[in-house]
Formats: sequence, structure tokens, C-alpha cells
Amino acid sequence: MNMLFEKYLVPDLVLSSFRDLTPALLDERGIRNILSDIDNTLVTYDDAEPTPDVLSFFAMLAELGIKIGFLSNNHAYRVERFNRDLGYVAIADAGKPGIKAAKEAMERMGAEPETTLFLGDQLLTDAACAKQLGLYTVIVPPIKDRTDLFNRSKRLIEKPYMKKYHARNPK
Ligand SMILES: [Mg+2]
Repeated sequence: MNMLFEKYLVPDLVLSSFRDLTPALLDERGIRNILSDIDNTLVTYDDAEPTPDVLSFFAMLAELGIKIGFLSNNHAYRVERFNRDLGYVAIADAGKPGIKAAKEAMERMGAEPETTLFLGDQLLTDAACAKQLGLYTVIVPPIKDRTDLFNRSKRLIEKPYMKKYHARNPK
């Protein structure tokens, strides 16, 4: 395995859902900010707005004083609609794994890398972006994975890096 790829594609933590980000876990890591992907991380592509589950997650974070920001490669109309009633820092067409938009979002949030968690569902975009910035990188499986050839190929590419994660973090 290429060491450079390994450095940028192996997540710090794999959870089965964003719901597993508990106050205890966030506190233990000293997390003060969460920069999150939207599609297939928080909701499916079919959910234009946050689900009740997502809203209660955000309410829990707000109570802990943890700031939230969105970083999506999807278009502005999708991101703006999702964020309409929340009004968090949100950047669409973010060009992940590029880091320009992530840096901008963190600046607007007043977020330092040491206290920022990145939440996403894809290694090639989300993890690669987050790891370049030294963020604590949490990956969840896509909520509703598409099974077309393109997405199956992406999962295939991710496979050795997920394996590496599980080898490092035996259950
Ligand atoms: Mg996604």
C-alpha cells in the first residue's frame, strides 16, 4: 500500500452512524467544532431537509457548545435548502478533497484544526480533505449507497484503506 495514500485515506475513527458521536466521545477528544459532509453522511440524497434524527443530533451539539459547519461537493441549491432553518456556516461545491473550502469554512467558524472533527462518508473526498488539514477524521458508511458501477468502483478503491483502519483498531 502506498504510504502517502495511507496517510491521507485511513480515517481516525469509523462509526456506524453520526448518532454514535456521543457527548463522552466528543469531550474525550476535546472537540469544539464539527465540519460535516451532508449527502449520505447526515441524510440521503432524497432528504432535502434535516431529518428529526439530525436535528436532535445538532441540538445535542449546540447544548455542548460545539459549532457545526457543512462542507459539501453538492450544489448550492441543495446545501442552502438543507441549511435554511439552521443558518450554520455552509459551503457548497466545496471541491473536496481540495482543502480551500474547508479552510474557509473553518475560518468562518473560528475553528482550530486541533479541536475540529470532520464527519463524512467517503475516503477519497472527505477523509482525504480532512487528513490534509490534520482534522480528527470520522467516517460513517453511506446511509443509502448507490449500487451503480461508479459507486461500486469507489467502494472497491476504499476497501484496502478501511481494512487498514480495522487492522489498526481491532474490536
Ligand atoms: Mg457524502
